[in-house]
Amino acid sequence: MFCNQCEQTAGGTGCTKSGVCGKNEDIQSLQDILLYGLKGMAAYAYHAGELGAKDGLVDAFMHEALFKTVTNVSFDLGRHIDMVMKCGMMNLRAMELLDKAHTGKFGNPIPTEVETGTRKGPGILVTGHDLLDLYELLKQTEGTGINVYTHSEMLPAHAYPVLRKFKHLVGNYGGAWQEQKKEFKEFTGAILATTNCVLIPPENTYIDRLFTIGVTGVPGAAHLNTRDFSAVIQKAKSLPQLPEAPGKKIMTGFHHTAILGIADKVVAAVKAGKIKRFFLIGGCDGAKPGRNYYTELAERVPKDCVILTLACGKYRFNKLDFGNIDGIPRLLDIGQCNNAYSAIQVALALSKAFNCPVNSLPLSIVLSWFEQKAVAILLTLLTLDIKGIRVGPTPPAFITPNVLKVLQDKFDLKLITNAEADMKDMLKTP
Ligand code: SF4
Repeated sequence: MFCNQCEQTAGGTGCTKSGVCGKNEDIQSLQDILLYGLKGMAAYAYHAGELGAKDGLVDAFMHEALFKTVTNVSFDLGRHIDMVMKCGMMNLRAMELLDKAHTGKFGNPIPTEVETGTRKGPGILVTGHDLLDLYELLKQTEGTGINVYTHSEMLPAHAYPVLRKFKHLVGNYGGAWQEQKKEFKEFTGAILATTNCVLIPPENTYIDRLFTIGVTGVPGAAHLNTRDFSAVIQKAKSLPQLPEAPGKKIMTGFHHTAILGIADKVVAAVKAGKIKRFFLIGGCDGAKPGRNYYTELAERVPKDCVILTLACGKYRFNKLDFGNIDGIPRLLDIGQCNNAYSAIQVALALSKAFNCPVNSLPLSIVLSWFEQKAVAILLTLLTLDIKGIRVGPTPPAFITPNVLKVLQDKFDLKLITNAEADMKDMLKTP
């Protein structure tokens, strides 16, 4: 947001007019939060739209909210706060819309064991979040002898009945997005990037076998304007075969419909004192130091507690063996970042089962943030008045101390410290 008086960032350090335009850092911060939230929400609304699901209220809100960020439109802090909160609520609608579109087209996810590593033969690796791209690719590669692999956030695709019926969807390869320069170099097949998080390949590595589609784009990589994957298939056939190199098996597919299917068992285990607490540890992963916190935290979760996870932050710990409690896995991978909707449905179902508000449940939420969808999800959780959430590894640079204080005072939002201290603190919470 630029000031029309001093032509610097409004209310920023470059202001030469003593804030005469009436803007200040806090309004700027709230507008930035709103913009980040809208970007995240746009991703969910876009995916839903591609599957034919639209919501006029979501679209209208996006127009109104963007309009609220133009120059000299509002100097009212309270109205900006209201808009940020409304963004959280509208993001819940967008995530619900996408969840219904996904399950309507691909069925309700079923907990599924997924192979990692590679199988002998030509291969295509699909990264990003777009299940429709994956579906169309699977249809076009059926019977060609090409194996299709999911990468990172595509992992939950293996749990959807319509997608898992394709026998050549053989496994999940690699970890979170920040490892892709190394992992894509090692994966000798073709690679399809459907959404973020895609990186620019290092020179002379895999640019000639990287394809982008939809919103993605990488200079030098072939871009597909439609879901005709002939070029990707041709490329995969021309490349050296991948080796037979099996890895560890991992579980995914604990969508809320799957967890609610075993709700009786979960409630009985809690009532019998066999499950003492739930930890939701998830969100976007990132490359900066400090994210080992999430591995360490997951490792410190006591044996009588269950971990719910989602998004690519789970690659910090999803290959560890957590065992189970009375047949209930101690690590439940709910899905992609948009499946935060499922996590909310699970929390609401638990609050109903135990006849108490969500904030009184034995549930601790620890989120990692990196990009805009994580901001939208955090706003949704705050809009639902969920308190005591921990976020990390650092506060977003666009949140001013004043705005952070408002969030801390109103929602008891906390920044992560260290895994040992935070775990002790969470276990003290009733
Ligand atoms: S969860 Fe976030 S960081 Fe991870 S791939 Fe998705 S958008 Fe990127």
